[in-house]
Amino acid sequence: MKSLRRPYSEQRTTDAGGGVWSVPVPIPGNPLGYTLVYAIESPAGPVLIDAGWNHPEAWLALRDGLAAAGMNIGEVRGVVVTHFHPDHAGLAGRVREESGAWIAMHEADIALVRLMRNFEDGAHRDFQADMLRRAGAGAVEVEEVTAHRPQPPALPDRTLHDGDLIDLPGRTLRTVWTPGHTPGHVCLHLRDADRLFTGDHVLPGITPHIGVYPYDRTDVNPLGDFLDSLEKVVALGELEALPAHEWTFPDAAARAAAIRAHHEDKLVRLVALLAEAGEPLTIWETAGRMTWNRPWEELPAMLRGMAAGEAAAHLRALEVREVVRRIAGPDPVRFALHS
Ligand SMILES: [Zn+2]
Ligand SMILES: [Zn+2]
Repeated sequence: MKSLRRPYSEQRTTDAGGGVWSVPVPIPGNPLGYTLVYAIESPAGPVLIDAGWNHPEAWLALRDGLAAAGMNIGEVRGVVVTHFHPDHAGLAGRVREESGAWIAMHEADIALVRLMRNFEDGAHRDFQADMLRRAGAGAVEVEEVTAHRPQPPALPDRTLHDGDLIDLPGRTLRTVWTPGHTPGHVCLHLRDADRLFTGDHVLPGITPHIGVYPYDRTDVNPLGDFLDSLEKVVALGELEALPAHEWTFPDAAARAAAIRAHHEDKLVRLVALLAEAGEPLTIWETAGRMTWNRPWEELPAMLRGMAAGEAAAHLRALEVREVVRRIAGPDPVRFALHS
């Protein structure tokens, strides 16, 4: 799989056929490299799927990439944002300023954008620090992780729900709600062409981050949602996948099934790990014993924070399945197998 990965410098605006263009937009300083923004032609102006990271270099890449496809950024009709993350929603506000385009997002992610925009700097930091301590993070890790403050994206002006048709004259583009990676993640099904824009939900070579935040929440089950959302893609049948990163590939359903199996496997290994530990573990301790793409000791604090979120999501899914129990009480929370 790795051999298919090419750096941003080798990416070009591509005619994906059927009135769809793929425009790579760089994510400066991020190993993901780029977001694939898709532009769908329409007589009323192009509609974009995602917009890319909010950075001057990314803006120029989007503008010039659309121009290479014969499109003027000032004529964009709308931007459908697959989810609120900055590599997707970041430039949507700038596109709206330039063209008067609408911005559409699922209601669950709009709620998060509102929350982010209402958070004051100090409050955000305190909230994060508290969450990290309750998961068993060390003092230095708390310090490093809370130093980052994400910039909230523009507030969308159109709200999407599962099944909604996108305002795209002459085409049939349907919203498929696929919560998991974020609560309001959507895929977009271009029904007149048997294609699925998969956002970050289904990617060909990597799997998206699935985390619980705050780590010890019990009112959500993002991994459970994600697995259900993968089933939803499987049920759509064989569709060409146009993902937001990496490269396009022929069968979204087959890849969704493989990702599902990957997580089930990870759950089995987590159960074995808890059995082996012989004592209840904090979320941080659990993350430290799971397998990541680098040894835990070498992970920078920021990535440890994400790994802990991922560990928490798997623990929570096992808790919902009644395989694992949580021991609440004195901080931090711990997890053990049901005896
Ligand atoms: Zn994302
Ligand atoms: Zn992404």
